[in-house]
Amino acid sequence: MNTVGLYIHVPFCVSKCPYCDFYSVALPSDAMLDAYAARVCDTLDVWAARLPEVTADTLYFGGGTPSLLGGERLAAILRRARARFGLSTAEITLEANPADDLYDTLSAFAAEGGNRLSLGMQSICAAELTALGRRHTPHDVARTVADAHRVGINNVSLDIMLGVPEQTTDSARHSAQQAAALGATHVSAYMLKIEPNTPFGRCTPSLPDEDATADAYLAVMDTLDTLGYHQYEISNAALIGRESRHNLKYWHSEPYLGIGPAASSCIGDRRFSYARDIDAFMRGEEPTDEPCSAIAVGSPEEYALLRLRLSEGVTAADFAARFGEPMPSVWFERARRLPKTLVCADGNGIRLTRDGFLVSNTLITHILTK
Ligand code: SF4
Repeated sequence: MNTVGLYIHVPFCVSKCPYCDFYSVALPSDAMLDAYAARVCDTLDVWAARLPEVTADTLYFGGGTPSLLGGERLAAILRRARARFGLSTAEITLEANPADDLYDTLSAFAAEGGNRLSLGMQSICAAELTALGRRHTPHDVARTVADAHRVGINNVSLDIMLGVPEQTTDSARHSAQQAAALGATHVSAYMLKIEPNTPFGRCTPSLPDEDATADAYLAVMDTLDTLGYHQYEISNAALIGRESRHNLKYWHSEPYLGIGPAASSCIGDRRFSYARDIDAFMRGEEPTDEPCSAIAVGSPEEYALLRLRLSEGVTAADFAARFGEPMPSVWFERARRLPKTLVCADGNGIRLTRDGFLVSNTLITHILTK
C-alpha cells in the first residue's frame, strides 16, 4: 500500500437537521474550532509517522459541516496534510452547507489546492427544503456554486435527497435539471432514511410512498442521462472524468484513512474507527477495530458486495487480477436466475441494472450468499 484516500471528519453543524443521524455537535465556538483543527493536524503527524512511505491522492473533508472551520483552519490542515502525505495531483473535496456565505472560505480553500466542492443542496424546491428543516434556500445554492466558480473551483457536486416530504416526480426531476443548469459536474441522489434516534424518527412526517420514491429516483437518473451525466454508482452520476475519486476508493476496496470522531479506516485487512465522541478524539484516544462482520474484510464477498454498487459491476477480469482465481461460478448461476431487468450476468461479469439498484440489498445478498 503506497497510496491512501484521506478522510477528515468535521463534526460540527450550526443546528441539527431533523432527519440527520451523522455524528455532529451543534454550535461550536471559535475556541473549539481552533482546538479541533490543531488536533487534526497533530493526528495527521501521528499517522504519517506510522505510515512513513504512504502518500494520499484524495482528501475529503466530510461532516457535519466542514465549511464551518473557515478558510484559515482549513488551509492550516491542508498544509499539514500536504507536508505529511504529499497530496500531489490530489482531488481535495470540501463538503459545505450553502446556507452560509462561503466566498472567503472557498477562496482560502482553493488557494491551498482545494479543487472540489460537495454541496448539500438536497432540493431546489423551497417547500421541500423547509419540510426537511434545512437552513438554506434555492438562491443560496446558486450563490454558493457561483462563488465556487469565481474562486476557480469548477468541480462541484450537488446532493439531491429523494423520498422527502412534499416531493413529486416532477419536483425531483426539476432538482436534477437545475443542478445541471447551475453547472454541477457531479450529482448524488440519496433516499431519505428515517433513523430512529432523530426528530423525524420520533415523529415521522408524511412521506411519498415507496413507489413514488422509486419513480423519483428513476426520473432523476433518467434526466441526468439526457443532460450528459452517466450514472456510475447506485446514488451517483457525473460528467465523464468527474466521478468522485475519493468515494471510488471505498467501492474499489482501496485503502483509506479516516481522522476525527466516527471516522473509519481500512488499511490492509484491518478496519477501525474513532469513537463517536468528540471529547475522546480531543483527548487523543486511538481508534479501535470495528466488530467482525459476517463478510470478512478483504474477502471476495466483500469485494463483490462493494463492486456491485457500481454500474460496471464486478468484472471477471478485475476479480481474477485481484484474487488470482476466477469468480465463483455459483455467483453467476444465482445471478442468471434473477430477472434480466434487474441483473446482467455474462462472460464479462455481473452488474445490476438501474431498476436493480432499487432493490440492490436483496439482489446482492441473493447473488453472494443464497
Ligand atoms: S447540515 Fe448535514 S451533517 Fe449537519 S445536521 Fe444537517 S444533514 Fe446532518
